[in-house]
Amino acid sequence: MQTTLRDITQFNFDNRYARLPPAFYRKLQPTPLASPYLVSVSDEAAELLDLDPAEMRSERFLNILAGNQLPPGAEPLAMLYAGHQFGTFVPQLGDGRALLLGEVVNARGERWSMQLKGAGETPFSRTADGRAVLRSTIREYLCSEAMHALGIPTTRALGIAGADEPVYRETPETAAVLLRLAPSHVRFGSFEVFYARREPAYLTQLANHVIEGHFPSLAGLPDAHEKFLHEVIVRTARLIAQWQAVGFCHGVMNTDNMSILGLTLDYGPFGFMEAFDPGHICNHSDTQGRYAYENQPYIGLWNCSRLAQALTPLIDAEVCNAALARYEGAYLDQYNVLMRGKLGLAQALDGDDVLIGDVLTLLAAHGTDFTIFFRALGDGTAAARDLMLDRDAFDAWAARYTARLAAEPGNDAERRARMNRVNPKYVLRNHLAQVAIDKATRHKDFSEIDRLLSILRRPFDEQPEHHAYAAPPPAWAKDIAVSCSS
Ligand code: AMP
Ligand code: MG
Repeated sequence: MQTTLRDITQFNFDNRYARLPPAFYRKLQPTPLASPYLVSVSDEAAELLDLDPAEMRSERFLNILAGNQLPPGAEPLAMLYAGHQFGTFVPQLGDGRALLLGEVVNARGERWSMQLKGAGETPFSRTADGRAVLRSTIREYLCSEAMHALGIPTTRALGIAGADEPVYRETPETAAVLLRLAPSHVRFGSFEVFYARREPAYLTQLANHVIEGHFPSLAGLPDAHEKFLHEVIVRTARLIAQWQAVGFCHGVMNTDNMSILGLTLDYGPFGFMEAFDPGHICNHSDTQGRYAYENQPYIGLWNCSRLAQALTPLIDAEVCNAALARYEGAYLDQYNVLMRGKLGLAQALDGDDVLIGDVLTLLAAHGTDFTIFFRALGDGTAAARDLMLDRDAFDAWAARYTARLAAEPGNDAERRARMNRVNPKYVLRNHLAQVAIDKATRHKDFSEIDRLLSILRRPFDEQPEHHAYAAPPPAWAKDIAVSCSS
């Protein structure tokens, strides 16, 4: 069925979050951004809103992106939340620079909550400026669309407006606003704030709000809260298994950055694994390595424990513990399915976990590029062998792997096609994002953003004309330090 495309005056807003009690948010207007310019828009994300792609390139849409104008029906507000940041509870965070415009219901009945990130100060800005810099909005924009193309649950990004207004981080940069989309922006920290304030009525209201909007099959059940917690735990476990299998490091897995829907949320100092190192820390500010790649699954559980604790006024503590006990199994089941898939193993056999663990040990010992290795393995062990320094060690593993493949149905071509559907050729490497950022910030040349977006839309396709985008990082990439500064 052909959907009628809309312009921005025709959004069907139904702002459920804004109908929660005022304790959940502060209503306020975005701070205007002088002389905005369009940086990029995502036509695929526009489809979520049935938004006309031509409209997205209009002056009035640019003004909406910049926060200078509101679409009719929007009710901007900053959401309240708390959170555990690097293990320490912070009783009040909240949207310090983001504003929820409202929730748009599309022709398919899907609800998309629209948020401007970088739209100016809010009552939750504390000492910060309420702005986002162009550099960090480009990274979030590209990565959210890239993660979606990889099949990983994530918030989406509709577009970026930039401006010459200076924003001071380590050096002067310029302001930008990202328009972000998600079915809901509620976080674990949205619950933690009312637990800490001993407001069980608000906790119940928030849980019911999320259940009715996003877990409708649970609404009205006598054990809805318990089932909801269980579902969030399982979704989180599966999400992190997906991160591990693609080598994604989030960088700041604070509970205020954990989506209640199990989406990848709040892209800051993230990174994709290149030379494989289980202890890899992508965030320069994470001096202790709390959020190192190999810690992500444990932190996911720790974060779920904070959510469960926040829900103890609604759910018996023993029931919470039983739900938490399901995390590990949910994680391992998903992880093993995904890792077997990366090796082209369609069926599960005893010993597969050892085969998987051993190849990762080899990659770590050799510092082999994670993405390139698994993509090459689809072409056969000879192609993968060329990436290894110690060929003898690899040959011993490859002999076991080849023997294991013999137990698989189908021929090599089928296996290769299957592997290429799960082992991406293209991921958003830091240096690729950096080239796009440099062109944008130095020359207002946004062409590289659009080029990357189109390549990363099809991460599993060969795209031989874009081969260079699948190469390992150049030497200068070592100097890119991504931190919490955004
Ligand atoms: P993050 O680590 O980016 O998830 O942010 C943690 C908290 O700091 C959230 O409450 C953000 O809204 C807030 N925050 C981050 N950057 C800024 C900024 N430039 N201005 C105001 N608040 C900010
Ligand atoms: Mg955040």
